Amino acid sequence: MSGNKLKHIFRSHRGGSVRCVFLLALLLLLSACGAQTPAELGFLAMDTYVELKAYGDNGEKFLSLANEETVRLEALCSAHSEKSSLYRLNSGESVRDAELDELIARAIAVSRETQGAFDPTLLSLSRLWGFGGGGAATVPDEEDISLALESAGYGKICFSPSGEPELNGVQIDLGGIAKGYAADRFAALARENGVESAFGSFGGMVCAVGTKPGGVKWKVALRDPLSDGFAAVIQVESVCVSTSGAYERYFTHDGKLYHHILDPKTGHPAESDLLSATVVDPSGIRADALSTALFVMGEEDALEFCREHGVCAILITRDKRMVFVGGIEPVKDSVDEAYSPVFEK
Ligand code: AMP
Ligand code: MG
Repeated sequence: MSGNKLKHIFRSHRGGSVRCVFLLALLLLLSACGAQTPAELGFLAMDTYVELKAYGDNGEKFLSLANEETVRLEALCSAHSEKSSLYRLNSGESVRDAELDELIARAIAVSRETQGAFDPTLLSLSRLWGFGGGGAATVPDEEDISLALESAGYGKICFSPSGEPELNGVQIDLGGIAKGYAADRFAALARENGVESAFGSFGGMVCAVGTKPGGVKWKVALRDPLSDGFAAVIQVESVCVSTSGAYERYFTHDGKLYHHILDPKTGHPAESDLLSATVVDPSGIRADALSTALFVMGEEDALEFCREHGVCAILITRDKRMVFVGGIEPVKDSVDEAYSPVFEK
């Protein structure tokens, strides 16, 4: 056999083994990618489009449980669905539901902590303004606002020794924490089902369970209150991120915008100097309730509150500053040029 022929055989053998190694690597890569492809599920609930994803073997089963759980929570604490436990409680029925009692107690605890900026007893006012319950969005008479204000106030609610709320004429609206509770239940279900890496988006509230596979943090884009785009991106793990803003639900009348976050002191939409308030917290309920409260407080009081209570927040002001409080930072170069980033301790 000539040396040339030998070289040829050797080359083709080598080419074959290189091809084999390449194919093997490709197969390994594809199967690895397969394992890294998350299960995904989207559905309508709680007046929003919920989008869930989960990595790992149990992903699909977990997401279907999370779907059922979110729908169950809507049936528990929607103030507008006639079948919900909260609706029945508000209608004067005696509803014995320890989970609902606990939710109401937690909402009232945040009301105390925020000195009433968060107040889950503004249901009649919300209806008066036409937010929720199918009412027409309209500017109500001052007299009606005063009357509705008189029959509101978290301080009116008492709890029996066994923890049942006595409403004493007020009507409860858990719209400011329901998505946060859904996010907490999403994270708890993930733990119970051995899912270490999952992400849930419930409208203005997201829940990051663990990290992405490989320890990479989740990227969360903060909605730009002035456009449909994003104002900045943050990176998080094992926390919930909730944003409250005037852009979420509103109507305009005579050129003025009226939004769904009410100031419990005036009964009107909060005249905030903030365009949005975002809170990052391991508890979804807390993130949800505090984002609503910080929006009502406005920049100065919100900053003070965050410093006193160790809250991580991002406040977007009307004069186009993006104030990062409590150590949270944006991804490099991600802040939209319309805003100037400011970092507060
Ligand atoms: P969020 O979108 O989480 O800021 O919550 C807003 C929802 O909470 C509204 O749609 C109302 O159902 C309710 N809400 C409005 N104003 C307040 C308030 N000051 N405190 C608590 N809940 C409120
Ligand atoms: Mg909220």
